[in-house]
Amino acid sequence: MDFRIGHGYDIHRLVAGRPLVLGGVRFDTDYGLEGHSDADCATHAVCDALLGAAGLPDIGHFFPNTDPAYRGIDSQVLLARVCAELRQRGFEPSNLDVSIIAEKPRILPRIAVMKAALARSTGLSADRIGLKATTNEGVGEIGRGAAIAAHAVALIQRA
Ligand code: MG
Repeated sequence: MDFRIGHGYDIHRLVAGRPLVLGGVRFDTDYGLEGHSDADCATHAVCDALLGAAGLPDIGHFFPNTDPAYRGIDSQVLLARVCAELRQRGFEPSNLDVSIIAEKPRILPRIAVMKAALARSTGLSADRIGLKATTNEGVGEIGRGAAIAAHAVALIQRA
């Protein structure tokens, strides 16, 4: 079997007056992540993990933040395109594991729906997606609520 593993990391600033989207799920908050797309750092970390596993350049290479086509775009669309890039090269996602680091909001109640969104975009079954959240215990910039970060690991295999 030809397995490949990849890691992705992303961080976006929290600002007032932006929608908060994490793992493809919109949270009901009056603050959100700053960025060119919907700024969904969890999904961006997944994209980079998948691309890294395939030995491909990062998400910024495929979807430059200088391109107006990607302004405000739903990152689930980007994730589906990343999976299409992989499949074109003979790879199939095998599983994902994602960690979100956020002081707020409470993420646990939305984990199942986030997994479902990532499952739809990747073609994986939800039981092949790990997703969890932790706070930064009040430490540093993430700890004071200035940003949300995410790490992801992806395993892919030759189809
Ligand atoms: Mg990003």
